[in-house]
Amino acid sequence: MIGSVLGTTKILGVMGFPVSHSLSPVMHNAAIAAMGLDYVYVPFPIAVEQLSTAIAGLKAIQSIQGFNLTIPHKIEVLPLLDEVTPIAKAVGAVNTVKRVDDRWIGTNTDVAGFLEPLKQLQCDWKNMPAVILGSGGAAKAVVAACLELGCPVIHVVGRDPKKMKKFHGTMTSQLHDYNLRVHPWASIPHLLEVAGIVINATPIGMAGDLNTPISELEIAILPDRAIAYDLIYTPRPTKFLQLATARGLRAIDGLEMLINQGAIALEFWLDRTVPIETMRQALLQHLA
Ligand code: NAP
Repeated sequence: MIGSVLGTTKILGVMGFPVSHSLSPVMHNAAIAAMGLDYVYVPFPIAVEQLSTAIAGLKAIQSIQGFNLTIPHKIEVLPLLDEVTPIAKAVGAVNTVKRVDDRWIGTNTDVAGFLEPLKQLQCDWKNMPAVILGSGGAAKAVVAACLELGCPVIHVVGRDPKKMKKFHGTMTSQLHDYNLRVHPWASIPHLLEVAGIVINATPIGMAGDLNTPISELEIAILPDRAIAYDLIYTPRPTKFLQLATARGLRAIDGLEMLINQGAIALEFWLDRTVPIETMRQALLQHLA
């Protein structure tokens, strides 16, 4: 799939630790090949304590045009960059960095990637309270996305009260006191009664885990108009989405978010439209 690597080849990549699970090389190299560009996208395994050395060191390698960041680097990278876009500041996390005039510019494409599959749905978002399960890095992007949708209130549910308090403080200051509330796991049934969208931003239900973030009984509480969104993309569908579909709800899995955040990142690096269908097919083929 990867064409010849020449003396002129430009480099993109993904920094993470571990990074071997990343599907980004699959979709980006497929798109690069389809566009016939002299680029290559590679994994960069970088341990937490090496991140600042890596960010500074990669700047010296002129062929490196940009990179993605995945767990555990999305937050810690912020102070290491020369500039951060308003959306990345609002989320408090960067997943894409581009070299511009030898400066590292960071942005966040997870928010737009999350929103893309929702654009096709007819919803009166002003009347759609959001319930987000989990308060990790992905939940931050989902909060910013729900704010952009216009959800009247955003409820975030977590299991660690200390972490939840910190999450609330950080996000309300970044999002300027938006109507964001945090709750313990036990509040879930009460929150679901009026939910417009419920989003699983935990790893519960990932490949090999047959658990669901909320029970079948709790799914039954959801209003008929509710949307069930799982950020997980393996397996497809998760047990959570299987139950939601059986209940007659609209269900969305994490694959479109993954594809769209990648396509938006590639557009950011290349300043051109990219073949998103090629990226989708490469991922589907890989996952199959
Ligand atoms: P993360 O930063 O590690 O956060 C995970 C969150 O889930 C934390 O709030 C954690 O709570 C909570 N959690 C974990 N296990 C739990 C359990 N058994 N019960 C209750 N809460 C639990 O991970 P992340 O980056 O936010 O990713 C979350 C999920 O989204 C993952 O499945 C990831 O693959 C997926 N994701 C998908 C995309 C996409 O493009 N589709 C993008 C990003 C992430 P504690 O803080 O208390 O541990």
